[in-house]
This record gives sequence, structure tokens and C-alpha cells, in this order.
Amino acid sequence: MEQGSKGQGKKEPLELLRSHNLRVTPQRLEILKQIQRTEDHPSATELHRRVRRKFPNISLDTVARTLEQFAKIGICRWVEGYDDVRRYDGMMERHHHFHCIRCKRILDVRPEALEEPPLPSLRDERFKVIDFRILLEGICKKCMEREQDP
Ligand SMILES: [Zn+2]
Ligand SMILES: [Zn+2]
Repeated sequence: MEQGSKGQGKKEPLELLRSHNLRVTPQRLEILKQIQRTEDHPSATELHRRVRRKFPNISLDTVARTLEQFAKIGICRWVEGYDDVRRYDGMMERHHHFHCIRCKRILDVRPEALEEPPLPSLRDERFKVIDFRILLEGICKKCMEREQDP
């Protein structure tokens, strides 16, 4: 699996498709642009809603399959799930996540924002640790504000 630590950066969508030998279609480009643009880790259904603004006839199935394909070749990634729905992340640089336990939003946390502990040197013969991600949990600003003024 592609790890973000190398930091593939945000290549131009067109270039990215070409470098993975994917046929460039306007629909694929749009899906890729949408996933790269978002910071809210949308599901395929949500991305479908956004892509449909430009391509009203595109099916959910097409969007879902395209996202699967992107994730498999490492130009976007699956977010560790908190619901049954699979969510996608277009940010390939190493980063952590904040999960709001109220609204279920997942926000990106840059590694610089955290005092990162060193790589765990676990003595475990089942695996060797090469990277880790931190999952923060709590209540986001929006939810806090909502709870303060009812
Ligand atoms: Zn929230
Ligand atoms: Zn993320």
C-alpha cells in the first residue's frame, strides 16, 4: 500500500492520470479534481452529487468504480472507516485525522500541528512498524458552537 510519508504531492490531475496510464476522460478528470479539492473525506455518494453538477448523467456506479480504481493505484486513499460507508481522501501527503464524534466529520491534521511521538519500536514479531497515523477524537468547532447556543 502506498504510504503518504514520501509525499506524492498534488500533481496536476491530467498528469496524474497519464502517469498511471489511465485513459483521460473529462469525467475521470472531474472526479479526480473533486477528490483533490475536498477536505471533508466524502463518500462516493457525496462525490457523485458534486460531480453531477458538471456531468448530470454520470452514474453513482461509475463514480464509485473510478474512486476504487484511484484508491487501488494510490492516487487517493480510503479513510479508515467510522461508518459503514467508505470515505475517500485526496490528500496523499502524510497527515493525521480528527474525527468529530457528534457530526462524524473527519478533519485533516497536518503532522506539524502535532508533537508526534517517535515511531513505536514495538517488539512484535508479527510486524515491523514503518509508519503510523494518529486519530484524534473530539467535538469540532461547529458542533461546539451549536451546543453553546441552542
Ligand atoms: Zn462536529
Ligand atoms: Zn485526510
